[in-house]
Amino acid sequence: MIEKYADNVPLWSFQKLLPCKEISHFISTRNGGFSKPPYNSLNLGFHVGDNPETVLENRQRLATALGIPSDNFTTVRQVHGGNVVTVKKPGGALHYDMAVPETDAMITDVPNICLMVLQADCVPMLFFDAEKKAIGASHAGWKGTLSKIAQNTVRALQERFNCLPKDIYVGIGPSIGPCCYEVGAEIISKITSNSDVYEGYMGAVISENKGFFNLWEANKRQLMQMGIPEKNIEVAQICTRCNHDRFFSYRYQQKETGRFGAGIILNT
Ligand SMILES: [Zn+2]
Repeated sequence: MIEKYADNVPLWSFQKLLPCKEISHFISTRNGGFSKPPYNSLNLGFHVGDNPETVLENRQRLATALGIPSDNFTTVRQVHGGNVVTVKKPGGALHYDMAVPETDAMITDVPNICLMVLQADCVPMLFFDAEKKAIGASHAGWKGTLSKIAQNTVRALQERFNCLPKDIYVGIGPSIGPCCYEVGAEIISKITSNSDVYEGYMGAVISENKGFFNLWEANKRQLMQMGIPEKNIEVAQICTRCNHDRFFSYRYQQKETGRFGAGIILNT
């Protein structure tokens, strides 16, 4: 990924998406905003206990850095499921109720809508098909990954916009890595007892009760199973827990923390 500053707000980009002039995209960090600890400082999430007025200031600051009106954001009330919605007009970003309910992924072919997912360890994924001019954004923690939200997003792009997997590019953003994502018996048994379905999902397995989930590899494999060429997929390889000075990490901050954004816009 490449880091740039816009109005003192650090914004990261995927190398594979950066040359695509049909879109704008970004990953924000925890820096450049107004929130106080433990939400310092560019917290974009209304639902985490931060002062809503400060969150709004942060979202406005991000919009200014991106050069878009904040009304163009569309966010979702993420529920760690497998559902994908098609967005036809921007939902806005002024308060939590404006977020699309009960979904973890969005797609659109309408220009100027900024599809933005929020996370603090979960995996953000940004999708772009230059042929069909369609985009998507999804969010996967362990539940979303086992619900195959990445594949559901690709399927939705195929069914609703006639996208072909060979034309779809995907960026898998900063999120908790296989170095740090320790999981217990419940998740290990779900994965290892279905090893034909979830092959490659576990990193190191120490015991029945301790192992490391590799969310990056799991989601990358899902995309490749759908026919997306490996050369079209960029994994940031940036662990949010290891890089907790740059990104919000739910694990590192023991649940009380902010959310950073991953967004994509189809340009006119
Ligand atoms: Zn790590």
